[in-house]
Amino acid sequence: MIIFSKDQFNEIREHCIKVLPNEACGLLAGTIDNSNNKIIQKVYLLRNIDESPEHFSMDIKEQFKVIADIRRNEWSLIGNFHSHPKTPSRPSEEDIRLAFDPNLSYAILSLADKEEIIFNSFIIKDNIVSKEKLIVMGG
Ligand SMILES: [Zn+2]
Repeated sequence: MIIFSKDQFNEIREHCIKVLPNEACGLLAGTIDNSNNKIIQKVYLLRNIDESPEHFSMDIKEQFKVIADIRRNEWSLIGNFHSHPKTPSRPSEEDIRLAFDPNLSYAILSLADKEEIIFNSFIIKDNIVSKEKLIVMGG
């Protein structure tokens, strides 16, 4: 299970809307409790250097800064998020191909339906996608 606060979810949603028509991306840091629940402590909004509505690449310098901050706070890198401006909240073939770490969560926020923004998180292992339970506290 992956758990976001309402503020964290709002931060992601607003960032994804702000960078439209392009995809947005970022990293998720948190802690893992005894029941293996991933509790997000901080959302890092990163620049999509592709500036594309269909792809994203994170700025490597920004990523290094984030990793240093995560270490400083003794958190773990839980995963990443990106937006799908016009497609559903599930990994594209490219997303699956580029998912190199089966321990990370891959969260995708879909803006395809502006009335109903969908946010899901996935684990991708050996090209097999499984959805993980995602909770927005107080959301
Ligand atoms: Zn994608």
